[in-house]
Amino acid sequence: MMNQKNVKRHPVPQARRGTEAKSSDPYAKKGGIPEPAKCSACEAVYHHKRWYSKGDPVVIELQSEAFDRTICPACRKTQEHFPGGIVTLRGEFLDSHKDQILHQIRNEEVRAKGNNPQDGIISIKETERRIEIHTTSEKFAQRIGKEIHRAYKGEVNYNWTPDDKFVRVEWFRGAEKED
Ligand SMILES: [Zn+2]
Repeated sequence: MMNQKNVKRHPVPQARRGTEAKSSDPYAKKGGIPEPAKCSACEAVYHHKRWYSKGDPVVIELQSEAFDRTICPACRKTQEHFPGGIVTLRGEFLDSHKDQILHQIRNEEVRAKGNNPQDGIISIKETERRIEIHTTSEKFAQRIGKEIHRAYKGEVNYNWTPDDKFVRVEWFRGAEKED
């Protein structure tokens, strides 16, 4: 039996919870971050308007510099649990492939972080019916959807907020478990 959850398209993007401004990411400082700056939590370095992970050759080259101390947007989003994206995985197929899929998502995180330390996982919540992954960036949530869909087929939908700062990604394969 079809229920609401099987509807493939959601014409109205789901608004992000909370009170944050619609027009901008409150974690992206308007005036910019002084450069070079180092995140006190993950040691990512901000240089030339982008973040590098601590093992990056760019960071190694900069190591003798005097860094401003800051907390990077990804670490703040993690600390405050303020996701840029939410990925929901559902359907019968998940039962038999859960470990494999979670393993792939963790691998994607390692790869994504190597490229941009602002991409990462805030939390993974498993229930009997679904897995919900909260990510620091909307781009990384989109990437998880894309990679899971490429590897396991099924159906994937992306619902962006009008300002493109938040995405809800829904992937499913196989019948939905009833509540
Ligand atoms: Zn950080």
